[in-house]
Amino acid sequence: MAWTESGDPDQVHRRLVRHFQDRFGAAPDVVGRAPGRVNLMGEHTDYNAGLVLPVALPHATFAAVRRRDDDVVRVASLQQDSGWEGTLAGCGPGGAQGWAAYAVGVLWALGTGAGEPLEVPGVDVLVDSTVPVGAGLSSSAALECAVGTAVVALLGHDLDTHRERLVRAAVRAETEVVGAPTGGMDQTVAMLAEAGAALLVDFADGSSRAVDLGLAASGLRLLVTDTRVSHALVDGGYGERRADCEEAARRLEVPTLREADAGQVDSLDDDRLRRRARHVTTEIERVRRTVEAFADDDHAALGRLLLASHVSMRDDFEISCPELDTAVETAVEAGAVGARMTGGGFGGSAVALMPAERVEAVARAIDLRFVRDGFTAPAHLLAEPGPGASVRRVGD
Ligand code: ADP
Ligand code: MG
Repeated sequence: MAWTESGDPDQVHRRLVRHFQDRFGAAPDVVGRAPGRVNLMGEHTDYNAGLVLPVALPHATFAAVRRRDDDVVRVASLQQDSGWEGTLAGCGPGGAQGWAAYAVGVLWALGTGAGEPLEVPGVDVLVDSTVPVGAGLSSSAALECAVGTAVVALLGHDLDTHRERLVRAAVRAETEVVGAPTGGMDQTVAMLAEAGAALLVDFADGSSRAVDLGLAASGLRLLVTDTRVSHALVDGGYGERRADCEEAARRLEVPTLREADAGQVDSLDDDRLRRRARHVTTEIERVRRTVEAFADDDHAALGRLLLASHVSMRDDFEISCPELDTAVETAVEAGAVGARMTGGGFGGSAVALMPAERVEAVARAIDLRFVRDGFTAPAHLLAEPGPGASVRRVGD
């Protein structure tokens, strides 16, 4: 069985500082850390002004940053062969390409735009991560938020008073510099999560609150299975779904699908748009019920909600794939309380809720089924709800 470990943060930190010194010839000033996430309920609802319920993973991205005296920016990643070198002026839209755009886009976003722009200096940046890349577990937001967190600390600012600003900067980096549409869930949970809890975010007003899942008390665990099917292969799918939602809202004459009710949705003539809108409205309701079911420790309800969400994504929103369907089905057959695909879809990961003692058996059952069906071997991880972004000065 392949397990993706989150690693000991102290060890990752020390290793990264060593690599930074080797590469750039001096120690970094600070190391920012931001987690990946697994979403428990509320998929494709963030950009519809809806609700989401993600959990920050113990797996995280670390960005070691050193201040320079000039306007040069150099970025490298232990997960990538090639780095990027340019100037602050080249960090915005149309500048860096590829993975570096996520990192330097945040420098640009922090230094521009509404509010008081920060005086971002030239920097050397080295990244390391234990978040699987492109697995629907938000390695992109973890990267943006780790770099942004480090830069805010480098400038001597208090992280806690800058968390919301960092969410906005990370979203701008991804939408305006990378050019990938993102609804904001990933950046919000990376910055605002609290250890041991999920984060309930309401995108109608941007408010959020920690929701204690009581996993330890109820003996439940969250098993995440990375199907190793890369969602990057069908980049257009996310944008198409988003366009469908906007078109459905337009036809229903509501600002967003958050304002649509079931009766209205049923009245949509177009079959595809009706199914897309039905997913969004029912999914928002499932987030509410999931919060209640965790509070009541109602395992049967949790199981029903997770499966209903998966079916909705598979049949109405059409963002699942055979590997995800198989992982979900097998998890439940092997004793999970419930399971669903998670993240934007078209590959990526599934999440299953189960009693601690079923974890090994469920992971093994999924592995066997993947062999039988001729799929690539998956990787598993345990989603122990972790904290949001943090920063450490080097030498502390
Ligand atoms: P996800 O966020 O689900 O992992 P995305 O496609 O949104 O998938 O983001 C993945 C991209 O983010 C990668 O292709 C790469 O460009 C960038 N990325 C993420 N983590 C790292 C990292 N540790 N080092 C370099 N680039 C990274
Ligand atoms: Mg992403």
